[in-house]
Amino acid sequence: MREAGLGDHAIEAAWPSWWSEELANDASGRAELRFALARRLGLSPRSLVGDRVEFVWNDEALFKNLSVVDAGKRAALTSFGMTVGRSLLRATAPGPSLAGVGATELRDAVLAGREFVDLASLLGTCWALGVPVIHLRVFPLDTKSMHAMVVSSNGRHAILLGRDATYPAPVAFTLAHEIGHAALDHLGEAPALLDMEDPAAAIPRDEQEAQADRYALTLLTGRADPTFETGRERFNAPTLAGAVREAAARYRIEPGTLALCLAYRRRAWPVANAAMRMIYDRPRPVWREVNGIAALQLDWGAITADAAAWLRTVMDTHG
Ligand SMILES: [Zn+2]
Repeated sequence: MREAGLGDHAIEAAWPSWWSEELANDASGRAELRFALARRLGLSPRSLVGDRVEFVWNDEALFKNLSVVDAGKRAALTSFGMTVGRSLLRATAPGPSLAGVGATELRDAVLAGREFVDLASLLGTCWALGVPVIHLRVFPLDTKSMHAMVVSSNGRHAILLGRDATYPAPVAFTLAHEIGHAALDHLGEAPALLDMEDPAAAIPRDEQEAQADRYALTLLTGRADPTFETGRERFNAPTLAGAVREAAARYRIEPGTLALCLAYRRRAWPVANAAMRMIYDRPRPVWREVNGIAALQLDWGAITADAAAWLRTVMDTHG
């Protein structure tokens, strides 16, 4: 499995808890082990008999901002994500879906009941539309070389976030960008689309990436190319935090998102990060909120006990 590109952490995480060394001498025990690993990691049935590990999905997915990931690793990433995404979809009641939903339409729907479009309201909207969203706590490769992923199955979508943050605004942007890929049908016939780098930081890229960015900005801020009048040209952290708090209500943009927009214009990331500490109570791992909501939303009884145990491992939501 290592030769096929899978990382130690993923292999350990997928290894079934019932396995013991005595079973290694038992043919049916070894067969059960192979089945369990294949189900969890998306290995092809051929891997169950031979010595070569093959994946169910290989070159079918779309990779964005791909730096150095070889074909074997692409197959490992895709197959892992497809397996997780399809389990999530089985445990999520179908909804109206994101297909064809415009960014403004979605923004207006959220603003009908909330002051801003923020991470919590985006997560709630996705689940209400039948689109599960989780943060991956197990990665198929040893390097955390994936920012986010959209999985498609039978016309439905699941979104897997890969890189965590300590404040919600950057995660909200990533989620809004992935919502854009799903809503704009960027996957076409592909089973998955993987954003390998942070779409907010990556240097452009293809037209689909630019479209997904515009979708995300329109959804979060109401405009595809946000410029804001704050009456200030220069900022330090306290004045930026103060300016976005004041302007947030006027523009109906979540303060952290507004700070990121201003920072992006001026390439002032350290100031924005320092302002985040003033905008939010305290830094905290955002994945806990994402996966806490997912754990409540998923219909755990709709999937096998083994699939549920694997999802809980991948989401790090045991107990
Ligand atoms: Zn993208």
